[in-house]
Amino acid sequence: MSTSENIAAKQETMGFQTEVKQLLHLMIHSLYSNKEIFLRELISNASDAEDKLRFEALSNDALYENDGELKIRLDFDKEANTVTIADNGIGMTRDDVIANLGTIAKSGTADFMSKLTGDSQQDSQLIGQFGVGFYSAFIVANKVDVFTRRAGADASAGVHWSSEGEGEFSVETVERAERGTSIVLHLKEDESEFADGWRLRSLVKKYSDHIAFPVVMQSEPVPAEEGEEPKAPEDETVNEATALWTMSKNEVSEDEYKSFYKHISHDFQDPLTWSHNRVEGKLEYTSLLYIPSKAPFDLYNREIPRGLKLYVQRVFIMDEAEQFLPLYLRFVKGIVDSKDLSLNVSRELLQADKTVENMKAALTKRVLDMLGKKAKNDADQYQAFWDEFGQVIKEGLGEDFSNKEKLAKLLRFASTNGNSEQNVSLEDYVARMQESQEKIYYVTAETYAAGMSSPHMEIFRKKGIEVLVLSDRIDGWMISYLTDFEGKHLQDITKGELDLGEMDAEEDKKQKEEASKTYESLLTQIKELLSDKVDDVRVTNRLTDSPACLVAGAHDMDAQMKKIMEAAGQQVPESKPSFEVNPEHPLVKLLNEEQNDERFNDLTHVLFDQAALAMGEQLKEPGTFVTRLNKLLLDLSK
Ligand code: ADP
Repeated sequence: MSTSENIAAKQETMGFQTEVKQLLHLMIHSLYSNKEIFLRELISNASDAEDKLRFEALSNDALYENDGELKIRLDFDKEANTVTIADNGIGMTRDDVIANLGTIAKSGTADFMSKLTGDSQQDSQLIGQFGVGFYSAFIVANKVDVFTRRAGADASAGVHWSSEGEGEFSVETVERAERGTSIVLHLKEDESEFADGWRLRSLVKKYSDHIAFPVVMQSEPVPAEEGEEPKAPEDETVNEATALWTMSKNEVSEDEYKSFYKHISHDFQDPLTWSHNRVEGKLEYTSLLYIPSKAPFDLYNREIPRGLKLYVQRVFIMDEAEQFLPLYLRFVKGIVDSKDLSLNVSRELLQADKTVENMKAALTKRVLDMLGKKAKNDADQYQAFWDEFGQVIKEGLGEDFSNKEKLAKLLRFASTNGNSEQNVSLEDYVARMQESQEKIYYVTAETYAAGMSSPHMEIFRKKGIEVLVLSDRIDGWMISYLTDFEGKHLQDITKGELDLGEMDAEEDKKQKEEASKTYESLLTQIKELLSDKVDDVRVTNRLTDSPACLVAGAHDMDAQMKKIMEAAGQQVPESKPSFEVNPEHPLVKLLNEEQNDERFNDLTHVLFDQAALAMGEQLKEPGTFVTRLNKLLLDLSK
């Protein structure tokens, strides 16, 4: 390395990644009413750093550098208006510092940032979805100094990072005897309340009581008794420092569970619910699982790191251990602490481990049961959950056959019995079914409105039979995995011949039979004309207002799914629908009496194309449809 490069490596000033600048701006402007959370965030990071050191030291004892007493120190200086959070954890190298405290590694961040509105109320909601972290220091500080050294590195490999949070930061290589990280917050003038021992103690109690490491502060000076020397301040531990999940349930308050959630998730909103369990027997482990109240901004990115914090016998092993829950439960946060796994277990080993597989099955059930309980006991809160995470739960139907029944009970649908809100459960539906109704009816469509206006709804509306309206992109795929619920078949109303069983009045059936006879030759003529487009032509029992509709084969692919596959450039198997005509409709009657071949041809094609349009389909030859329709309209004036 040349001398000039050496100097450059010693100190350099760098710009924050654009997203960091935006995040800083967002933090400062939207979190001032929650500003005290900076302490929880920095102590959480310190605790993570201690955890990581302990883990790495499992295979390299030298990293302790003769100081195995892991702790976090909290100091303040009233005069200088500073607060310092110091840990003797893993520390950072210069490269770590530049990457960790200058950029945001999460993918999709730029996209997320573009959603910011400038309205602090709304934005503070958004930041909950993003997670806070180190940068929250700038809510209360106008300058932050970080001094750090990676455990095991030479004292000359210390790093000093400094920034005023306004676009740039400097890094400098410095001497640092202690391993770990000290963060010095130079408080803004009007945030001096935090340079106070009692205030800091109460915040540690409130937010960080049950992290696994002691938080140490100097004792407050006690006024000396007359004639005695004032007592020298001494170190004291100000938190409980027992890892929360190792305690028994009745020792932990709701507030403590909530703070602990924030500690592990960096979310600043309360969780929706949680479940804390100690399992003994064949498998021995403790789990603490949380359901967040808001979806993270990158929920739909199936590639993002996810999973639980894994501990083995209270020793932290890894973050984001994804092997303990299925992909569709990627929003669950929490901890699992196993007695059975080995301390040197790796991600690869987890993948093939039978114990892990069994734990995964048990934890998955635990989460589903927790949600089931919420749904039963607090419908409003469950609805809020569904609105945030319902789409992801739907993925479960196709991914987790062993829990199909539990998952089916968690589903919520929009239906004709209500509005576009997805709030009808299959159990609700079944409870409301008509006496002789045997099936659960549904329709899939692009939108709720499109589903509601489908001609296939007409008979159901007339008979007052409830229909579920599925309009999420994933629905067509999902419903293909859900054929039955509690012994009731789920029936797509646009597929197969409609058999309403006893709900069809005898006289309606008779009428249909008669109409089929009366219209026999019409049906044959139409069939000839549309032979390359339809499979069958028949008299319908579904329509009251529309002249005709298209019906897919009972086993054909869902129309919505077909569209998605086509859009993705995939081959879709060809299948022809059936064409059903409504004998009561004046246009069909007109068609039956039509003597002019050309007009018969035009009207038949127009009815067919209309039926396709009403299903939300694209016409292959829209221009031809318009020409035919206009010809017929002009005939009106003759
Ligand atoms: P997060 O903790 O969500 O990853 P932060 O912005 O809080 O995000 O921190 C970014 C990264 O900086 C952390 O992942 C960690 O690698 C590093 N870091 C932060 N604080 C410390 C610390 N006290 N000791 C060691 N590394 C730290």
